[in-house]
Amino acid sequence: MAGKYNICLDIGGTKVLGAVFDSNDNIVCRYKKKSTESGSSSQNVQEVIISVVEELLATSGLKKSQINAISAGAPGVIDSGSGIILFTPNLPFRNYDIRTPLEEKFGVPFYIGNDVNVGVLGEYRYGAAKGYQNVVGFFVGTGMGGGLILNGSLFTGTGFKAAEYGHMILDPEGPLCGCGQRGCLEAFSSKQGISSYIRQQVSRGRKSDMAEHVKEGVFRSKYLKKALANHDKVTEEAMDRACHYLAVAAGNLINTISPDVVVFGGGVVEATGNLIRDKVLAEIDRYCMTSIRPTVELKTAALGDDSNIYGSLAMIRDAEAEKKNSKSTKKAAAVKADAKAADRTTAVKSASKKTGEKSTAKKAAAKSGAKKTATKAASGKTTSKASGK
Ligand SMILES: [Zn+2]
Repeated sequence: MAGKYNICLDIGGTKVLGAVFDSNDNIVCRYKKKSTESGSSSQNVQEVIISVVEELLATSGLKKSQINAISAGAPGVIDSGSGIILFTPNLPFRNYDIRTPLEEKFGVPFYIGNDVNVGVLGEYRYGAAKGYQNVVGFFVGTGMGGGLILNGSLFTGTGFKAAEYGHMILDPEGPLCGCGQRGCLEAFSSKQGISSYIRQQVSRGRKSDMAEHVKEGVFRSKYLKKALANHDKVTEEAMDRACHYLAVAAGNLINTISPDVVVFGGGVVEATGNLIRDKVLAEIDRYCMTSIRPTVELKTAALGDDSNIYGSLAMIRDAEAEKKNSKSTKKAAAVKADAKAADRTTAVKSASKKTGEKSTAKKAAAKSGAKKTATKAASGKTTSKASGK
């Protein structure tokens, strides 16, 4: 019999977070480890992932046989069907089969999906979007991630590349984005976009608490929180600009999809609470069709840093439900086939009888049709007679 515990991982560019869930979906143990050193190979990162699972087993005192499945979210394009990481921006995996070594090592099923997709799935199943059917999720971090739940299922599109909201072009003459285009949402509203705005203002001679923190790249979220608490003018402007473009993007998606809820999550949201949701809310009416606006809610993610590991747990639950469904569909099909075979003889017997009945019915119908025509003709006569007078 399969074990009752699930191990869920959040594989990031800098660290791997792991948690053990019991059969009631409660976290019983956590562990995290740095995912990459400079020059790490895919094999090195795979070893880190395996060591996190081993550490979780050791800390929780569980045996391999007590584990039901392992699941993970990771950045990039991931073929969740075959468990292959096609491309990751911050990790060394390229067309890398991560499922086979994990399943061989631990002897249980291993599932993997794109981290933001998985995060939105987590919010849908366990967090702010629980109970809704159509969910748009924006995850504001170093980049801008997206996820989409349609009619209660995660939508990943052709080739597992859907919901790249960060690369929705909002101004073709806007700032350069990491993807090579100009004016993408990510270039305005992610940590990269916010940092480059502050850097630009500082280079024009303005002062900002964030100057040092954006000098070498993107800031850490805790400094953003501090600067906003100090009412740092340049940081406030950067956030207003980020939220303005986020509102435009959210409005476009609301008009396109008509979701029940739009959820804002990710590191920046985690550090600033409801700030982003509230600023977007203040502007959103301008960009939504008036017929669609009343049926959509805007919410802040509820699971914080844990949305990914909860989403990984949801992937396990979904995969198990799918297996169960396909089993019961097969069973139902087999029962149907048996019933059909048994009915065949009866059907053959009754066929001749039915044919007989049918021809009788046809005759009756023809008769009634003839009657109707006669009645119509008669009434027509009456009408023409009446009108003729
Ligand atoms: Zn882009």
